Amino acid sequence: MKGKIYLIAGPSGVGKGTVIKKILELDENVAISISATTREKRKGEKDKVNYFFKTKEDFEQLVKEDGFLEYAQYAGNYYGTPKKPLFNKLEQGYDVILEIDVQGCMQVMKKMPEVESVFILPPSLEELEKRLRGRQTESEEVIKERLALAKSELDQVKHFKYSVVNNTVDEAAAKIVEIIRSGR
Ligand code: 5GP
Repeated sequence: MKGKIYLIAGPSGVGKGTVIKKILELDENVAISISATTREKRKGEKDKVNYFFKTKEDFEQLVKEDGFLEYAQYAGNYYGTPKKPLFNKLEQGYDVILEIDVQGCMQVMKKMPEVESVFILPPSLEELEKRLRGRQTESEEVIKERLALAKSELDQVKHFKYSVVNNTVDEAAAKIVEIIRSGR
């Protein structure tokens, strides 16, 4: 394969999505893997752009066909990385970012120990909670659930090759681009 896989993880609300968007702007040889999910589309999200939104039945069918590099359940829904589009992009020479949860990252590391991995850390836990609340798309119950999960997820930084603190989006994105370029 010509390109490399970069797992980018971090607790929910740490700002992964924003940092990754910036990385894609900074380097045209970086692409992102679009995940499949069974969760409801949020306002403003588009099918095949943010996710491949699937029914539970369709998702389970693709699992049976061995169509996922990894998949996991998160807050009651399935999320997974479809193999085909990912390997196409790698063959085309793109370095491909997988923005997936820690369970998923561990599955990929096991299957493909050569992958690169970056963990994004919040400046502090207080900041993380503030960001989760600021998004205002989730109920209090969901926020509490995600925050508890985020705290346990922070401990997972030890499994990742690199860690980057998200003080500012520009700074974090620039650091990750530097990591990706040094890997070429
Ligand atoms: P959200 O519902 O906020 O978009 O995503 C919830 C969680 O699912 C996040 O931690 C996100 O990183 C994770 N996630 C998104 N896509 C995938 C995937 O393909 N595989 C796995 N394992 N996790 C994913």
